[in-house]
Amino acid sequence: MKLGFIGLGNMGAPMARNLLKAGHELVVFDIVQVNVDALIKHGEGRATAAVTPAAILSSGVDGVVTMLPAAQHVKSVYLGSDGLLSANVKGVVLIDSSTIDPMSAREVAKAARDKGALMLDAPVSGGTGGAEAGTLTFMVGGEESLFNQMKSLLQAMGKNIVFCGGAGNGQVAKVANNMLLGISMIGTAEAMALGVSLGMDPKVLAGIINTSSGRCWSSDTYNPYPGVLENVPAARGYTGGFGSDLMLKDLGLATEAAKLSKQPVPLGSLAQQIYQTFILQGYGGLDFSAIIKLFTKN
Ligand code: NAD
Repeated sequence: MKLGFIGLGNMGAPMARNLLKAGHELVVFDIVQVNVDALIKHGEGRATAAVTPAAILSSGVDGVVTMLPAAQHVKSVYLGSDGLLSANVKGVVLIDSSTIDPMSAREVAKAARDKGALMLDAPVSGGTGGAEAGTLTFMVGGEESLFNQMKSLLQAMGKNIVFCGGAGNGQVAKVANNMLLGISMIGTAEAMALGVSLGMDPKVLAGIINTSSGRCWSSDTYNPYPGVLENVPAARGYTGGFGSDLMLKDLGLATEAAKLSKQPVPLGSLAQQIYQTFILQGYGGLDFSAIIKLFTKN
């Protein structure tokens, strides 16, 4: 297919490279020129640049994938004066993989539908490692028939491609999962720090938790206590992984969506406040499992 790709950052660039690898031709746009140049160079003649999002459409693409930081960027790229929907998008498939709130996703999807475009929200999990390896999980909202048509395209960038329901439901799945992840990481950090402060060896304690009712991903796969697991951020000074800044962003999306739907999320709100406190102390760039620093002396 001939595809547009907008947003060539930490996630978008490797995803775009995987589309090229799968044989697609790309027309790309990003506000940062070096990101565009790097992708064009990588494309070896199969990637070209457009000057605006709307200009991508005039090059006759079948679809456009967007991977942008937040809802305000998505709205400007889709709804802005030289945005995608200012051009002729009739019959074009638009796939937004940015993580944004479900309400904004639904607003953009409706505007796209009104213009005759076909739209899916398809946020991902799996981080930059998954984007590089092409093993992302895609949580997809929109028309099921369109999802079925686009599944093989998404498989060029991901391994698990899951249909979540109507427009915005990909984002719903993403924010619900990540809210639970933030809560469970804080809980794991708190329990590990308590046990160690009372005299337990962290590895033995983690072993008990991981075969008992406290078991969860934050403990058995991504334990925040240094020395429990190898190849996790806790084993390398909390570098790499999923930044605390990004966790705070996702907790904010969850609590905002909850507020709009009048749904109580007391632990989600508390987790948001705890990460906010942590980031205020200058730790936003560290992996989110570094939250254990709030409960330990070192
Ligand atoms: P990033 O900041 O590295 O990349 C965003 C890119 O979008 C940049 O190249 C930026 O120049 C470009 N951009 C910003 N505004 C633009 C505009 N108006 N027009 C065109 N391009 C524009 O962010 P990222 O880490 O790649 O994350 C992208 C999305 O994926 C975010 O919504 C994030 O929450 C989500 N996400 C990230 C991770 C991760 O581990 N990094 C994991 C899962 C999901």
